Order: sequence, then structure tokens, then C-alpha cells
Amino acid sequence: MLKRRGFIKAGTFAAGGLLVSASAGKAAEGAFELPELGYGFDALEPYIDAATMEIHHGKHHATYVLKLNEAVAGAADLKGKSLPEILGNLSEIKDKSLMATVRNNGGGHWNHSFFWKTLAPAGKSGKPSDDLTAAINGEYGSLAKMQEAFGAAAASRFGSGWVWLNEKDGKLKISSTPNQDAPIMKGVVADGELGKPLLGLDVWEHAYYLKYQNKRPDYVAAFWKVVDWEAVSKRLG
Ligand code: MN
Repeated sequence: MLKRRGFIKAGTFAAGGLLVSASAGKAAEGAFELPELGYGFDALEPYIDAATMEIHHGKHHATYVLKLNEAVAGAADLKGKSLPEILGNLSEIKDKSLMATVRNNGGGHWNHSFFWKTLAPAGKSGKPSDDLTAAINGEYGSLAKMQEAFGAAAASRFGSGWVWLNEKDGKLKISSTPNQDAPIMKGVVADGELGKPLLGLDVWEHAYYLKYQNKRPDYVAAFWKVVDWEAVSKRLG
């Protein structure tokens, strides 16, 4: 963002005209941007701390966006495509090194953008809609049982990755992906297509280590206090 603004300003200064600004805008077309959180870094306190949020959004997520933009800028086939289009056709990228870069950083951008929209400020978590409650009860027996199964999946994800609650073939399913693999990827996720993601949790250490250190289960328990159930419920169906 700052980089682009600097580029436009420098270009305008150098050539002194609107034409340069317009072409700078065109050059940036199709580029990906770090989304706003929609709440303050401290909004999730005391469950997720402000320092973690600031570093997670401003450094980790921003770096995925930067590296994705660099990769796409050098790949004519990918220019102008949306992130779902790119991630849904990863196996079509023949250059294996480029594919890995796009998989990691495109997945990172998609996963984090989805994650921020899955969280609500402390005290504003709400509750699952009647439809989502019925789906959860039908599959797991209760919300608490679903959370238990989700927590078990989070605990057993070795190393870095994500845990998901998905809707697939009209049923709810908990799954997990390694690294930055995203549920909307096709052809690369180990256990096939995961279905439509309703909710996802980042279990990379960068998401919780400052406050929770090695206590991943405590972080998972805190996550449930700041889930935006309204947003999650709207994803169902
Ligand atoms: Mn993360």
C-alpha cells in the first residue's frame, strides 16, 4: 500500500501529470491488498492480545500479500485473475517453484482474510443461528461436542496449519490443512475437496505464541469467545 502510494507520487512528480497517475493505477490492477481488520488490534482482548493481532495482520498477513503480488506480477498467466480462480486451479501452474510460492502466499492471503472475518470483538460473539445450531446438533449432538472435536483436530495438527468447520454435501465436517493450504484449493489438499468453509482457526504458533506459548488448547478455548457467530451462520447454505 505504502509502496504503491510512493510509486504513484514519484511517478506523478517525475512526469508531472494525470496520465502517469492513471497508468500507475492500471499497473496495480489485479494486485492483491491487505484487507482492513474491521476492528481494533485490541478488540479481541483478553482472548487474543493486541500485540499478536498487530504482528499477525501487519507483518505476517502483509508479507503473504506482498509475496503473492510479486509472484503474480511475474506470471502473465495469473495476471488479472481472482484469488479463488488462482487457488482453484493451482495444478495448472506448470512452474513448480511458482506454484509453491502461490500456494503458500495465496493460501496465506485467503486464509487470513477469511480468519479476520470469522472473529468478532470480545463480548460481541453472539450465537449460532437456528439453522447452524440444528446442523451442529445433527452432526455432533451439541455445540460443546463440536467444539471438542474441533479442539482435538487443532491439537493433532502437527506443526503449522489450520482447522476448519466445513459444509460438504449438506453435512458439517471438521478438517485440517497443513501450512497455508486453503479449503478452496483444488487438486493439492491431501484429503480432497474440503467443502465450503464456515469457520477456520489459524494454529500457526505466530497466531498465539506471545500469549499462550505452547498451550495451544488454551488458545483454542479463547478463540470460541471471539467467534463471530453471525458471520459464520451466514456462510451456511
Ligand atoms: Mn497466521
